[in-house]
Amino acid sequence: MENNSSQPISNPNNVPNSNAGSGALNNQNNQSQLFCPVCHQPVKPEYYFCPNCGENLKEVFGGISVWTQIGIYFISVFLPPLGFWPGVKYFMKPNPQAKKIGIIAIVLTFLSSIITIWLIYGESMTYLNTLKQSLTGF
Ligand SMILES: [Zn+2]
Repeated sequence: MENNSSQPISNPNNVPNSNAGSGALNNQNNQSQLFCPVCHQPVKPEYYFCPNCGENLKEVFGGISVWTQIGIYFISVFLPPLGFWPGVKYFMKPNPQAKKIGIIAIVLTFLSSIITIWLIYGESMTYLNTLKQSLTGF
């Protein structure tokens, strides 16, 4: 009797995963208790940084300073490819203000990229035409 093969299998295949709905539950609790968006530890609204993972909670739950916004928009307009990443970073945050800033930054980056490409294209076309003229004229 060393092999108890008649025993029922204690781990059947079709057990539903209890972790499946945990993400949705966290969102529902958001009204009364704030949670860090990164590590999901409970935090207080007056915290500047998450004590567990160091996420900048002031940007998540509080306001984003005007200078930070100006910096992001400035990068988006004048350094188009670089503005895309802070835009996405802010867009991913649960804070609606951060989301809005992220969307604006992404749109500005997009528009600025189009203008930059258009200018470079126009410049190179002018250059090519000048080159062609000087070649054929020679
Ligand atoms: Zn955290």
